[in-house]
Amino acid sequence: MPASAVIRYRCDLAVVGAGLGGMTAALSAAQAGLSVRVFEKLGDARHLCNSRLTGGIFHIALDSLLDPPETIAARIRAATDGTAEPALTDAVAGDALRALRWLQQQGIRFMRSGRDPWQQFTLAPPSLPQFGRRWQGRSGDLMLRTLEARLGAAGGSVLRGHRAEQLLMRDERCVGFAGTTLHGQPFAVDAHAVVIADGGFQTNPLALQAHGISPEPAQVKQRNAQTGYGDGLRMAQQVGAAATGLSAFYGHVLSRDSLHNELLWPFPWADDLVRSGLVVGPDGRRFADEGHSGVYMANALARLPDPASALVIFDDAVWQGPGKLRAMSANPFMERAGGTVHRAPTLSALAALAGLPHVSGD
Ligand SMILES: Cc1cc2nc3c(=O)[nH]c(=O)nc-3n(C[C@H](O)[C@H](O)[C@H](O)COP(=O)(O)OP(=O)(O)OC[C@H]3O[C@@H](n4cnc5c(N)ncnc54)[C@H](O)[C@@H]3O)c2cc1C
Repeated sequence: MPASAVIRYRCDLAVVGAGLGGMTAALSAAQAGLSVRVFEKLGDARHLCNSRLTGGIFHIALDSLLDPPETIAARIRAATDGTAEPALTDAVAGDALRALRWLQQQGIRFMRSGRDPWQQFTLAPPSLPQFGRRWQGRSGDLMLRTLEARLGAAGGSVLRGHRAEQLLMRDERCVGFAGTTLHGQPFAVDAHAVVIADGGFQTNPLALQAHGISPEPAQVKQRNAQTGYGDGLRMAQQVGAAATGLSAFYGHVLSRDSLHNELLWPFPWADDLVRSGLVVGPDGRRFADEGHSGVYMANALARLPDPASALVIFDDAVWQGPGKLRAMSANPFMERAGGTVHRAPTLSALAALAGLPHVSGD
């Protein structure tokens, strides 16, 4: 086929992205009798998207899906400072358990991964490593392979190496999209409906700056698959979609050394040290409320002029207590994986070790 020839596809529903979002939409539509194709830009059979790398805990704002919808909705409002869209909040709160039960019906297995209510539904077998990544044959990998097999059985398919680039519109209606394959071949999809589930814009430094997430994205270690370049958002905005609330992200606090050490992401977390300790910038001053949450602090760190410049200060009681709280806690896994922990008998000795300005009042 000449390189310029356009490959043409036709289906009822065309889905962009073969992560959990895209595969769930595709499978439920195929089971309802629609002809469905999923277009995935990556070429590997086990493409490493966020849904494959996930820790696999199905929680909402670090709490249980078994709670009544109104409790869950209140929790979402609190966790998002009231900025969440009310209709979306209610949809998530009302449908989360139903969605989980649907996944179970598709053969996805869950187990309890800890004593807390939010750890009740964790993909089995779990992926949670103490440090580094460990996803093959478990958790999200198994989930995506199960969903793809079910989609095939329902008559749908995943086309790999197909990147969506532009929505096709007719009379203000979306009638498909155009893109390019990994081999540089243009393609066009003629569809009654398109679902965009491309995983976001975390890999696009300009978008991260434009939405106020970080002035220095290169100094923020992201604990994700680096597959979302924001194509879906751009495609939707090009045909008139509006966007709100893109200035915050879900993330956790990592060791600064994770910028150079692959064993230090996505685990262990420093969230529990942060919540119980003090976080200071290079001037030795606090800049955010540590007690709020690790996710809140991850956002505050990313917004610093130099996101990798902060330190968390804690004592031995924190290191031996909250520092050991989880299976992938900082103590002992951060140092085992090569992360830096400075130790000193006084605050001023610690300041000297860590390169902070002099601190008085030992
Ligand atoms: C290390 C880690 C741990 C996590 N732990 C948890 C957890 O315990 N609990 C929890 O609830 N969440 C967790 N998450 C978050 C959760 O995994 C994600 O929110 C979820 O998997 C996102 O699914 P998705 O389908 O939206 O996106 P993705 O899984 O990222 O899938 C999007 C797909 O779209 C493809 N794509 C992108 N652009 C295009 C394009 N232009 N054309 C075609 N295809 C495209 C990408 O290649 C990708 O395959 C974790 C995430 C990570 C990285």
